[in-house]
Amino acid sequence: MNAPNPRQVRESVDRAAQCAGRPGGVTLLAVSKTRSADEVAALADQGFRHFGENYLQEAAVKIEALTRRRLTWHFIGAIQSNKTRDIARWFDWVHTVDRVKVARRLDEAAREYSKNVDVCIQVNIDEEPQKAGVAPGELIPLVRDIAHYRHLRLRGLMVIPKAHEGDAGARVRQRFCETRELFEDCAVHVGATWDTLSMGMSADFETAIEEGATIVRIGTALFGPRIN
Ligand SMILES: *Cc1c(COP(=O)(O)O)cnc(C)c1O
Repeated sequence: MNAPNPRQVRESVDRAAQCAGRPGGVTLLAVSKTRSADEVAALADQGFRHFGENYLQEAAVKIEALTRRRLTWHFIGAIQSNKTRDIARWFDWVHTVDRVKVARRLDEAAREYSKNVDVCIQVNIDEEPQKAGVAPGELIPLVRDIAHYRHLRLRGLMVIPKAHEGDAGARVRQRFCETRELFEDCAVHVGATWDTLSMGMSADFETAIEEGATIVRIGTALFGPRIN
């Protein structure tokens, strides 16, 4: 693995967006799970504004410490429904909504905190039994349910395709493509906020951008390998 080079990652994202005919159309979400507030601050000094966290407790400490920097925080971890209140409190975005109960509780909490939360629905695109996300066949009813919550802005879809080995990413590309088709199928059921495809990580963000990603979630390539 090469030494992390945030500026180079940013340039790769921007170049891929440009090649896809969408200059400036892709947000680089720096995934800062397990990283310290100081590491986040160092990236913020280089112009990074969007940070993704998986664990509520760990995130709240960092978000609190960095309040004055006015960063945008995205929750990208598994959601326990008894944590929705604090997730709505601390985060601007939630990428991993996959059931009505969680959406309803996030909406109630967002109302309490007098804010709106931007939301993506996580799709279990490979239909893996243990994995979070709504099954593709159950997506449209869920979208229709969530679209009417007044304190949630339903923005789009999020996926984490299964990592396949030995096929040079062709199957992952296929999953990204299917996700984009699902995104398009849903559009008529949502208002004008429907504009986001959260897909692509360190290993496959360029492919994801070619297939329509508007947010790429990148950890390792920015910060180096995770140790813990
Ligand atoms: C950890 C994580 C990432 C970042 O993965 P890298 O391979 O380190 O870029 C992206 N999305 C989610 C949901 C994650 O949990």
